[in-house]
Amino acid sequence: RLEIRNIRRRFQGREVVSDVSLKVMPGQVTCLLGPSGCGKSTTLRIIAGVDMQDEGEIYVDGELVCDTVFRVPPEQRSIGMMFQDFALFPHLSVAENVAFGLNGHKSDKRARVEELLDKVGLLSAVDKYPHELSGGEQQRIALARALAPRPSIMLMDEPFSGLDERLKDDIRDSTLDVLKSENTAVLLVTHEPHEAMRMADEIALMRDGRIVQQGAPYNIYNAPVDRKAAAFFSDIN
Ligand code: ATP
Ligand code: MG
Repeated sequence: RLEIRNIRRRFQGREVVSDVSLKVMPGQVTCLLGPSGCGKSTTLRIIAGVDMQDEGEIYVDGELVCDTVFRVPPEQRSIGMMFQDFALFPHLSVAENVAFGLNGHKSDKRARVEELLDKVGLLSAVDKYPHELSGGEQQRIALARALAPRPSIMLMDEPFSGLDERLKDDIRDSTLDVLKSENTAVLLVTHEPHEAMRMADEIALMRDGRIVQQGAPYNIYNAPVDRKAAAFFSDIN
Protein backbone atom coordinates (compact mmCIF):
# COMPACT_ATOMS: atom_id res chain seq x y z
CA ARG A 1 0.00 0.00 0.00
CA LEU A 2 1.08 3.53 -0.74
CA GLU A 3 0.77 6.57 1.47
CA ILE A 4 2.13 10.02 0.71
CA ARG A 5 1.81 12.87 3.18
CA ASN A 6 1.98 16.60 2.56
CA ILE A 7 4.25 16.45 -0.48
CA ARG A 8 5.54 19.76 -1.80
CA ARG A 9 7.85 20.43 -4.74
CA ARG A 10 9.18 23.76 -5.93
CA PHE A 11 11.03 24.53 -9.17
CA GLN A 12 12.84 27.88 -9.29
CA GLY A 13 10.74 29.21 -6.43
CA ARG A 14 7.44 28.16 -8.03
CA GLU A 15 5.51 25.49 -6.18
CA VAL A 16 4.17 22.87 -8.64
CA VAL A 17 3.09 20.27 -6.07
CA SER A 18 1.39 21.76 -3.02
CA ASP A 19 0.59 19.71 0.05
CA VAL A 20 -0.49 16.54 -1.75
CA SER A 21 -1.56 13.59 0.41
CA LEU A 22 -2.87 10.26 -0.90
CA LYS A 23 -3.42 6.67 0.16
CA VAL A 24 -3.75 3.68 -2.19
CA MET A 25 -4.66 0.25 -0.84
CA PRO A 26 -3.68 -3.10 -2.44
CA GLY A 27 -6.01 -4.03 -5.28
CA GLN A 28 -7.17 -0.44 -5.61
CA VAL A 29 -6.75 1.95 -8.50
CA THR A 30 -6.49 5.64 -7.68
CA CYS A 31 -6.45 8.02 -10.63
CA LEU A 32 -4.61 11.29 -10.30
CA LEU A 33 -6.67 13.31 -12.74
CA GLY A 34 -6.07 16.86 -13.89
CA PRO A 35 -5.20 19.16 -16.78
CA SER A 36 -1.79 19.50 -18.39
CA GLY A 37 0.81 21.07 -16.13
CA CYS A 38 -1.05 20.59 -12.84
CA GLY A 39 1.79 18.52 -11.32
CA LYS A 40 0.73 14.90 -11.91
CA SER A 41 3.97 13.58 -13.39
CA THR A 42 6.07 15.47 -10.87
CA THR A 43 4.12 13.77 -8.06
CA LEU A 44 4.65 10.36 -9.66
CA ARG A 45 8.36 10.95 -10.20
CA ILE A 46 8.78 11.87 -6.55
CA ILE A 47 7.02 8.66 -5.45
CA ALA A 48 9.18 6.63 -7.83
CA GLY A 49 12.28 8.24 -6.34
CA VAL A 50 13.64 9.81 -9.52
CA ASP A 51 12.89 13.29 -8.18
CA MET A 52 12.81 14.50 -4.58
CA GLN A 53 10.20 16.48 -2.69
CA ASP A 54 11.01 19.61 -0.70
CA GLU A 55 8.59 18.58 2.03
CA GLY A 56 6.55 15.55 2.97
CA GLU A 57 6.91 11.80 3.44
CA ILE A 58 6.30 8.67 1.37
CA TYR A 59 5.46 5.26 2.85
CA VAL A 60 5.33 1.91 1.07
CA ASP A 61 3.56 -0.88 2.97
CA GLY A 62 3.82 1.24 6.12
CA GLU A 63 7.58 1.81 5.85
CA LEU A 64 9.10 5.21 5.27
CA VAL A 65 10.91 5.26 1.91
CA CYS A 66 11.54 8.98 1.65
CA ASP A 67 11.37 12.17 3.64
CA THR A 68 13.55 15.26 3.37
CA VAL A 69 16.59 13.62 4.95
CA PHE A 70 16.14 9.89 4.34
CA ARG A 71 15.81 8.28 0.93
CA VAL A 72 15.49 4.67 -0.22
CA PRO A 73 16.80 4.37 -3.83
CA PRO A 74 14.16 3.83 -6.54
CA GLU A 75 15.00 0.19 -7.26
CA GLN A 76 14.51 -0.76 -3.58
CA ARG A 77 11.03 0.72 -3.19
CA SER A 78 8.89 -2.20 -4.44
CA ILE A 79 7.47 0.13 -7.03
CA GLY A 80 6.73 -0.79 -10.65
CA MET A 81 6.47 1.89 -13.30
CA MET A 82 4.88 2.29 -16.66
CA PHE A 83 5.12 5.40 -18.75
CA GLN A 84 3.73 6.37 -22.10
CA ASP A 85 6.71 5.20 -24.11
CA PHE A 86 6.81 1.57 -23.06
CA ALA A 87 10.58 1.50 -23.45
CA LEU A 88 11.01 -2.21 -24.04
CA PHE A 89 14.58 -3.30 -24.67
CA PRO A 90 14.71 -3.76 -28.45
CA HIS A 91 17.56 -6.28 -28.38
CA LEU A 92 15.83 -8.57 -25.87
CA SER A 93 13.05 -11.03 -26.62
CA VAL A 94 9.64 -10.71 -25.02
CA ALA A 95 10.57 -13.34 -22.43
CA GLU A 96 13.86 -11.57 -21.66
CA ASN A 97 12.09 -8.23 -21.36
CA VAL A 98 9.56 -9.58 -18.87
CA ALA A 99 12.28 -11.42 -16.91
CA PHE A 100 14.51 -8.34 -16.78
CA GLY A 101 13.82 -7.32 -13.17
CA LEU A 102 13.62 -10.87 -11.80
CA ASN A 103 16.14 -12.62 -9.60
CA GLY A 104 16.37 -16.25 -8.58
CA HIS A 105 16.32 -19.62 -10.28
CA LYS A 106 15.89 -19.86 -14.01
CA SER A 107 12.89 -22.19 -13.71
CA ASP A 108 11.15 -19.85 -11.23
CA LYS A 109 11.77 -16.87 -13.49
CA ARG A 110 10.46 -18.78 -16.48
CA ALA A 111 7.30 -19.73 -14.57
CA ARG A 112 6.65 -16.13 -13.56
CA VAL A 113 7.26 -14.89 -17.11
CA GLU A 114 4.82 -17.43 -18.50
CA GLU A 115 2.23 -16.66 -15.82
CA LEU A 116 2.30 -12.97 -16.74
CA LEU A 117 2.39 -13.48 -20.49
CA ASP A 118 -0.64 -15.71 -20.07
CA LYS A 119 -2.42 -13.02 -18.03
CA VAL A 120 -1.81 -10.38 -20.70
CA GLY A 121 -2.79 -12.86 -23.43
CA LEU A 122 0.60 -12.97 -25.16
CA LEU A 123 2.07 -16.33 -24.28
CA SER A 124 2.36 -16.99 -28.00
CA ALA A 125 4.71 -14.00 -28.35
CA VAL A 126 7.25 -15.30 -25.84
CA ASP A 127 10.10 -15.62 -28.36
CA LYS A 128 9.30 -12.56 -30.44
CA TYR A 129 11.10 -9.21 -30.35
CA PRO A 130 9.50 -5.85 -29.60
CA HIS A 131 9.65 -4.63 -33.22
CA GLU A 132 7.48 -7.59 -34.24
CA LEU A 133 4.67 -6.44 -31.96
CA SER A 134 1.91 -3.84 -32.36
CA GLY A 135 1.70 -0.85 -30.02
CA GLY A 136 -1.04 -2.50 -28.00
CA GLU A 137 1.00 -5.70 -27.69
CA GLN A 138 4.07 -3.75 -26.59
CA GLN A 139 1.92 -2.05 -23.97
CA ARG A 140 0.87 -5.44 -22.61
CA ILE A 141 4.48 -6.65 -22.50
CA ALA A 142 5.48 -3.48 -20.65
CA LEU A 143 2.72 -4.19 -18.15
CA ALA A 144 3.92 -7.77 -17.69
CA ARG A 145 7.51 -6.57 -17.23
CA ALA A 146 6.53 -3.97 -14.63
CA LEU A 147 4.47 -6.50 -12.66
CA ALA A 148 6.92 -9.41 -12.86
CA PRO A 149 8.85 -8.64 -9.63
CA ARG A 150 5.52 -8.34 -7.75
CA PRO A 151 5.81 -4.66 -6.81
CA SER A 152 3.50 -3.50 -4.02
CA ILE A 153 2.77 -0.40 -6.05
CA MET A 154 2.35 0.39 -9.73
CA LEU A 155 2.80 3.92 -10.98
CA MET A 156 1.35 4.54 -14.43
CA ASP A 157 1.77 7.85 -16.24
CA GLU A 158 -0.65 8.13 -19.18
CA PRO A 159 0.05 4.50 -20.11
CA PHE A 160 -2.47 4.43 -22.97
CA SER A 161 -1.73 7.76 -24.61
CA GLY A 162 0.20 6.41 -27.60
CA LEU A 163 -2.41 3.82 -28.55
CA ASP A 164 -5.06 3.66 -31.25
CA GLU A 165 -8.18 5.45 -29.98
CA ARG A 166 -10.45 2.56 -30.99
CA LEU A 167 -8.42 0.04 -28.99
CA LYS A 168 -7.98 2.10 -25.86
CA ASP A 169 -11.04 1.03 -23.92
CA ASP A 170 -10.40 -2.67 -24.51
CA ILE A 171 -6.81 -2.23 -23.40
CA ARG A 172 -7.90 -0.22 -20.34
CA ASP A 173 -10.29 -3.01 -19.34
CA SER A 174 -7.80 -5.83 -19.81
CA THR A 175 -5.05 -3.84 -18.04
CA LEU A 176 -7.41 -3.38 -15.11
CA ASP A 177 -8.14 -7.12 -14.98
CA VAL A 178 -4.42 -7.92 -14.81
CA LEU A 179 -3.73 -5.27 -12.16
CA LYS A 180 -6.62 -6.54 -10.02
CA SER A 181 -5.47 -10.15 -10.36
CA GLU A 182 -2.04 -9.13 -9.01
CA ASN A 183 -3.61 -7.18 -6.11
CA THR A 184 -1.28 -4.24 -6.76
CA ALA A 185 -1.91 -0.74 -5.39
CA VAL A 186 -2.12 1.40 -8.52
CA LEU A 187 -1.66 5.14 -8.93
CA LEU A 188 -2.57 6.06 -12.48
CA VAL A 189 -2.03 9.52 -13.91
CA THR A 190 -4.35 10.78 -16.62
CA HIS A 191 -5.77 14.03 -18.00
CA GLU A 192 -8.81 12.19 -19.42
CA PRO A 193 -11.93 12.13 -17.22
CA HIS A 194 -13.28 9.22 -19.25
CA GLU A 195 -10.24 7.10 -18.42
CA ALA A 196 -10.50 7.89 -14.71
CA MET A 197 -14.23 7.11 -14.69
CA ARG A 198 -13.59 3.81 -16.42
CA MET A 199 -10.66 2.61 -14.32
CA ALA A 200 -10.58 4.26 -10.92
CA ASP A 201 -11.85 3.06 -7.58
CA GLU A 202 -10.97 6.53 -6.38
CA ILE A 203 -10.26 9.76 -8.21
CA ALA A 204 -8.00 12.51 -6.89
CA LEU A 205 -8.75 15.63 -8.88
CA MET A 206 -5.66 17.83 -9.18
CA ARG A 207 -5.41 21.48 -10.15
CA ASP A 208 -2.47 23.90 -9.85
CA GLY A 209 -0.49 21.44 -7.74
CA ARG A 210 -3.28 20.67 -5.29
CA ILE A 211 -5.80 17.90 -4.86
CA VAL A 212 -9.08 19.81 -4.94
CA GLN A 213 -11.41 16.83 -4.60
CA GLN A 214 -11.07 13.15 -3.85
CA GLY A 215 -13.59 10.31 -3.83
CA ALA A 216 -15.36 7.57 -5.75
CA PRO A 217 -15.84 8.34 -9.47
CA TYR A 218 -19.61 8.37 -9.11
CA ASN A 219 -19.49 10.91 -6.31
CA ILE A 220 -17.05 13.23 -8.05
CA TYR A 221 -19.01 13.07 -11.29
CA ASN A 222 -22.31 13.78 -9.54
CA ALA A 223 -21.08 16.36 -7.07
CA PRO A 224 -18.08 18.21 -8.52
CA VAL A 225 -16.52 20.51 -5.97
CA ASP A 226 -16.88 23.66 -8.10
CA ARG A 227 -17.61 25.00 -11.58
CA LYS A 228 -14.13 24.23 -12.88
CA ALA A 229 -14.41 20.62 -11.79
CA ALA A 230 -17.85 20.36 -13.38
CA ALA A 231 -16.56 21.83 -16.63
CA PHE A 232 -13.62 19.44 -16.62
CA PHE A 233 -16.01 16.48 -16.46
CA SER A 234 -18.46 17.90 -18.97
CA ASP A 235 -16.35 16.85 -21.98
CA ILE A 236 -16.54 13.19 -20.99
CA ASN A 237 -17.40 10.74 -23.72
P1 ATP B 1 0.92 16.82 -18.41
O1 ATP B 1 -0.52 16.36 -18.32
O2 ATP B 1 1.11 17.82 -19.50
O3 ATP B 1 1.89 15.70 -18.47
P2 ATP B 1 1.57 17.21 -15.58
O4 ATP B 1 0.36 17.40 -14.73
O5 ATP B 1 2.19 15.86 -15.60
O6 ATP B 1 1.20 17.68 -17.06
P3 ATP B 1 4.13 18.13 -14.59
O7 ATP B 1 4.98 17.49 -15.62
O8 ATP B 1 4.10 17.51 -13.25
O9 ATP B 1 2.63 18.31 -15.12
O10 ATP B 1 4.61 19.63 -14.47
C1 ATP B 1 4.04 20.55 -13.54
C2 ATP B 1 4.71 21.90 -13.69
O11 ATP B 1 6.06 21.80 -13.23
C3 ATP B 1 4.78 22.39 -15.10
O12 ATP B 1 4.52 23.77 -15.11
C4 ATP B 1 6.21 22.10 -15.53
O13 ATP B 1 6.66 23.01 -16.49
C5 ATP B 1 6.96 22.24 -14.22
N1 ATP B 1 8.16 21.38 -14.16
C6 ATP B 1 8.16 20.02 -14.20
N2 ATP B 1 9.43 19.55 -14.09
C7 ATP B 1 10.23 20.63 -14.00
C8 ATP B 1 11.65 20.80 -13.86
N3 ATP B 1 12.48 19.75 -13.79
N4 ATP B 1 12.11 22.07 -13.80
C9 ATP B 1 11.29 23.12 -13.84
N5 ATP B 1 9.95 23.04 -13.97
C10 ATP B 1 9.42 21.81 -14.05
MG1 MG C 1 2.66 14.52 -17.14
